[in-house]
Amino acid sequence: MDMIRLRGLGVSPGIAMGEALLSERVVFTSRREPIAEHQVEEELKRIQRAIERTRQELKELREHIRERIGDEQAFIFDAHLMILEDPLLLSQLERVIKEEKVRAEYAITRVNNYFQTLFDSLNDEYFQQRKTDVSDVLSRIYRNLERRKSKTEESDRPVVLVAHELLPSEIVINISRKKITAVALDMGGQTSHTAILARSLGIPAVVGLRNISHEVKNGDFIIVDGTAGEVIINPTPSVRREFQSKKEKYEAYQRQLKKIARLKPRTLDGVGFKLLANIELPDEVDLAFSFGAEGIGLFRSEFIYLQRRDLPSEEDHLAVYQKMARNTHPRPVYIRTIDIGGEKSLPQLNIVKEPNPALGLRAVRFSLRNRDMFRTQLRAILKASVKKNVRLMVPMITEVEEVFELKSLLAELKAELRAEKIPFDENLPVGVMIEVPAAAATIECIIKEVDYVSIGTNDLIQYCLAVDRGNESVAYLFKPHHPAVLRLIHQVIQTAVREGKEVTVCGEMAADPLSAIILLGMGLRTLSMNPIFIPKVKKALREVELKTAEQAVAEALKLRTAKEVEEFMIEAILRKHPQAFLMSQVVS
Ligand code: PEP
Ligand code: MG
Repeated sequence: MDMIRLRGLGVSPGIAMGEALLSERVVFTSRREPIAEHQVEEELKRIQRAIERTRQELKELREHIRERIGDEQAFIFDAHLMILEDPLLLSQLERVIKEEKVRAEYAITRVNNYFQTLFDSLNDEYFQQRKTDVSDVLSRIYRNLERRKSKTEESDRPVVLVAHELLPSEIVINISRKKITAVALDMGGQTSHTAILARSLGIPAVVGLRNISHEVKNGDFIIVDGTAGEVIINPTPSVRREFQSKKEKYEAYQRQLKKIARLKPRTLDGVGFKLLANIELPDEVDLAFSFGAEGIGLFRSEFIYLQRRDLPSEEDHLAVYQKMARNTHPRPVYIRTIDIGGEKSLPQLNIVKEPNPALGLRAVRFSLRNRDMFRTQLRAILKASVKKNVRLMVPMITEVEEVFELKSLLAELKAELRAEKIPFDENLPVGVMIEVPAAAATIECIIKEVDYVSIGTNDLIQYCLAVDRGNESVAYLFKPHHPAVLRLIHQVIQTAVREGKEVTVCGEMAADPLSAIILLGMGLRTLSMNPIFIPKVKKALREVELKTAEQAVAEALKLRTAKEVEEFMIEAILRKHPQAFLMSQVVS
């Protein structure tokens, strides 16, 4: 077996190794194998035993995911158990075996085809999702017809999940297999939500590998280096040793990071800054604090919708927000209202397919159009604000009129709550995300209407440079230090500072030490990022003087290209503070 080295995009750091597990769907047989009358009973028993094994398997997975990430994500298995318990499913399988006198494998294929055709004819996104769920359950039953488990499932050795593409919900299903230590995908970009989720779960991940799912066979040994963005298939013993020692170094480095988490967030010349965490799941709060976060700067609330098949009620929202507010108190938690559309579609919302979803009915546009849903979420956020540490954050504002609409809706809801004698924070800070270039360009109008702004650089860069954030073919153009991007960000920060309003950056850019120094030099004092990057950024900012950053940025803003900016900044910073990037050099 020859060794193969593949380069991709490292989206979740760390090194892990193990046998490959291809995330494949079962190939249902098309062979119609007839059986004799006396064999019918045995095939019926095979199906029943397979269903029983599947039931056990799903229950175990549900418990495992509950322990590992929490209740919220275990819902997928409840839904799959419900499908399994549906009497129609079993009776259809039994009927095919009895009437057509065929083996159980063929009966499952027939029933699967039936449901696929049925759901296809409904041509609706909700039913498309159900189709995948039914197929998933039938695949499990199919696999369980054979008592012997596949080699990779049987072994206790760690496995690396390899797939063409994974949806966030599929990651949740897959990591529930206890031994998944890393993920390697053909598709995906740095800020795709699958990448973000892998980081939150602390699983090294490399995406954008183009055709790893074809290069790898189940059981091949693979190394995933999520820091360098490299995957090695069937490494030679010496390469394996090399990576084993890299892995140990990386883990020692992680321990060092935890020490930095306890240091004060101050620059060399004593200027304070604040580092907050971006999280997707309420259970990540503790992890964020262990890395030194001073609050939750972005809670992406879409995950409340991912947990269920129907729409969450006010109580469902409230339970999550209350838990977050309680666990974060007295530190702040910025709850972002739903940001769907783009790559983040949710089946239960019945969203009409749009030709260009990134430019379509996304985020606040969707919320303002679907008033009832928006009211439900806003009421829950208001109710959770009694402890006064909640902040409301609204994504994808394009024009100030949207802010007017939001404020009048909030005023209405506050009046409702007062009338109902339900307590809430009368001064709940209301902020918007600046991620559309138009909002950045008109920041002086918007800033007057809000308590704070948070710059979402993932989208701001995507829209400013016309570069799809999840498309690896144009990933080379996704440049946070492009002069156009820097000028927009600079304008937003400076305007907010002048108006005495809080401004933060919560895109992935904040997690890069060089970018963080540039943002500091522009006047920014609060940065929110994936928790694992907090120590690295804190270390970099602690090693520079504000004066150096300010002077270098003033010059850098006059340059022509991202490359010129980067070279100039690194040189200017290192000349005064040779230690500044030490931490980032160790990891890369
Ligand atoms: C952003 O766009 O920078 C951001 C933080 O929001 P999201 O990544 O959830 O779109
Ligand atoms: Mg965004």
